[in-house]
Amino acid sequence: MNYGKKKAAKRQKKITSKSTMQGKRIVVRLFKALLICIILAAVVGVAGGGLFIKKIIDDTPHVSASDVKPKGFTTFVYADDGSTEIERFVSSGSNRVYKSIDEIPKDLQHAFVAIEDERFYKHNGIDLQGIARAAVVGIARGGNFTEGASTLTQQLIKNNVFPNFTKEKTFYDKFQRKIQEQYLALQIEKKMDKSEIIESYLNTINLGQNCLGVQAASQRYFGKDVSDLTLSECAVIAGITQSPSTYDPITHPDNNKVRRNKVLKNMLEQGYISQKQYDEALADDVYARIQTTNTASQADNTYSYFVDALAQQVIQDLKDQLGYTDTQAYNAVYSGGLSIYSTQNQTMQQICDEEANDDSNYPGLKEYGLDYALTVTRADGSTENYGSNNIKNYVKETYGKDQGLLYSSEDAARAMVEEWKATIAREGDTYDERITITPQPQSSITIMDQKTGQIKAMVGGRGEKASSLGLNRAYQGSKRQPGSTFKILAAYAPALDSCDKTLATTIDDEPYTLKNGQVLRNANKQYGGTTTLREGIKRSINVVAVKLSDEITQELGYEYCQKFGISTLVKNKTINGKVFDDSTSQTLALGGITEGVYNYEMCAAYATIANGGEYNKPTLYSKVVDHDGNVLLDGTGESHTVIKDSTAYLLTNAMEDVVNSGTGTACQLPNMPVAGKTGTTTSNKDLWFCGFTPYYTCAVWGGYDDNKECDYDTSFRFRLWKGIMSRIHENLEEKDFKVPSSVERKSICTITGKLAGSGCPSITEYFAKDTLPAETCSGHGYSYGSKSNSSTEDDSSSNANTSGSSTREDGSNSATGNTTGNTTAGSDTTGGTTTGGSTGGTTGGSTGGSTGGTTGGSTGGSTGGTTGGSTESTTPQ
Ligand SMILES: [Zn+2]
Repeated sequence: MNYGKKKAAKRQKKITSKSTMQGKRIVVRLFKALLICIILAAVVGVAGGGLFIKKIIDDTPHVSASDVKPKGFTTFVYADDGSTEIERFVSSGSNRVYKSIDEIPKDLQHAFVAIEDERFYKHNGIDLQGIARAAVVGIARGGNFTEGASTLTQQLIKNNVFPNFTKEKTFYDKFQRKIQEQYLALQIEKKMDKSEIIESYLNTINLGQNCLGVQAASQRYFGKDVSDLTLSECAVIAGITQSPSTYDPITHPDNNKVRRNKVLKNMLEQGYISQKQYDEALADDVYARIQTTNTASQADNTYSYFVDALAQQVIQDLKDQLGYTDTQAYNAVYSGGLSIYSTQNQTMQQICDEEANDDSNYPGLKEYGLDYALTVTRADGSTENYGSNNIKNYVKETYGKDQGLLYSSEDAARAMVEEWKATIAREGDTYDERITITPQPQSSITIMDQKTGQIKAMVGGRGEKASSLGLNRAYQGSKRQPGSTFKILAAYAPALDSCDKTLATTIDDEPYTLKNGQVLRNANKQYGGTTTLREGIKRSINVVAVKLSDEITQELGYEYCQKFGISTLVKNKTINGKVFDDSTSQTLALGGITEGVYNYEMCAAYATIANGGEYNKPTLYSKVVDHDGNVLLDGTGESHTVIKDSTAYLLTNAMEDVVNSGTGTACQLPNMPVAGKTGTTTSNKDLWFCGFTPYYTCAVWGGYDDNKECDYDTSFRFRLWKGIMSRIHENLEEKDFKVPSSVERKSICTITGKLAGSGCPSITEYFAKDTLPAETCSGHGYSYGSKSNSSTEDDSSSNANTSGSSTREDGSNSATGNTTGNTTAGSDTTGGTTTGGSTGGTTGGSTGGSTGGTTGGSTGGSTGGTTGGSTESTTPQ
């Protein structure tokens, strides 16, 4: 039957079709499964990738606008006129000079945009179009993704947030940074507008030849300010960016030219310049103008003593006042783009430099001092260190001479180094040696405006300054013994200020035994008997100062010295197992202290007296401003009261005597009153004059670096002081020290100590009003010769007996006092002029009632007087 066949066929067909269907279903199912798998995988992948990206973004440093602004700028130092540049601090990576966007030509901005990021003004931090294009180009090149799509914003972030990008090693490092960079670019675009971003960018980028930022590049390549660049020059600079070594216009001008032409072409195509501008720029032979030598380089500059000290002070203040670490403070000063407004007056500085280096101020010998250090590495790798003392000892052993570090010439010094070196040399040595040779004796100078505490000039040494941050003898480089300049600070100031003493107070100048059993002597072994404090100051009498110091206590003197700003005194300090304490030492008032003083602190102490008793912290800057214009440090205004204005005036007036007729006559100025104090330590190792006018205070120190005695000349300090101050005051109006209302000039009866009545033997003196007696003397029944020969007058006749006071009966010591009074003074005036002796009759105790006239005998220069103390002791000049 056919039916069956048909059916069978149909069925067959059916079966066939059924199996087809089933096959299709399987494929579909498989496909669906696969699709689901793919989707699942995609979902998982995207989620995983998302998590991965999220982790990277979470790890992104948090940044604000200030973080992407460039760091590492040149710091400028200005003189006290606020505008004259006196120095630049440039350390590696910091020659950047910031320019705001309105100082940067539009052509330059457009040149960078045209070559680096043509959609800069449109995108939001990331250039998606650029990324897509870079991807296509990359795929077309078979996966070689070199075409960058980094926007200016991203480049800015890369440079300032990820400055170590050049050190990235793995693909992951690079990938992570790229993601973070893009993320941050989006963030920063929300916080800064386009002009702020491009301003930061143009000040950040590396433009070859160590130039950071467009201003440094403009100065480096074209020697001009960025605002003066031409279009063609702008294109040269913009062309450097992509690869500062490849496109360096000095070393690779051909490469740069290709790039520059592309910059110009892009600018033309993007509508920033006209065809005419393009043609002109292209025709410009800009490479002929590019400076091949770096004339502005100051890398090898040796900073002056003033600038060294300034940097030290600013670093210290950044640490103390703003909590900077050492590194932060150092970086701020040397690469923080600060503007430091110094207090230096260039005219005064120049005068100081000239005088300090004028050999005619140091007549006689000029010697050369050797400072030496050597490290020897022997052939076997061991090392040995040697110093100046090795040479000194060698010279002593070989030639029997003690001064092995002083030579008649630099050559002689070097020859001795070689001679000594031969004694230690061995086969195979290598030497690392430092030889510093400086003229000797040395000097240091500080000049301060006492009203402000501003240091106007500073000299830290004589001779050429060999290195930055070398020995600064005026600042914190060397502590030297202050000698008799300390008598004022440690004895007379506290005595007058808080112990009811007056300038007329008398002290018996006599042999005096110190606690250690030694007898304190005046150098000429003479003693003046009853002596006023005024005379004690004027002639720098040791016994008077020490007895006064004992009376008011060294503890008090120590406190006053600290208030005067002397930071180097010690209290209970153990040195080599022995305890030192300046607050109990009897040599304090003689300036024989444990460690010595800094010149600039002595200057500030005397400036306090000049300033009516108000201490101003000595400062080398008026303000320090960061590169955004914020004031970081204010250098002025740190002050406190040390002594009453009456005390300050009394000291000033007595110290005028020092200069007019005492130990400091060599420092008189032709047109200005001067008050000051000499200081000379034992064997003339340290020579000082600290003095002031109504305008300025100047401290001068002189001596040998190795403490040799200044035996041939002790007056060079005076020549320096006078030479400097006379030039500084040349055109200043003459004026007198101002007498405060708290001081009065009065006559006091020398018998009763009351205000002198008619017929009283009297002394006329300046007194603080609060120390004046209330009562007037009722008289003595008969007439005394009364003479108002105040010692404030420059009465330099030596006739002690002429005064009416010479015949009084009162006197325990009237006879001797007067008979010896005729010896003339002058032996202690190193300044060259003699004092002519102070008069008798000038003194007489105001309170003790001892007679006037008694000091006449002491005029013979009561000098000398080594104290015999354990520390540097002093003679009293
Ligand atoms: Zn009287």
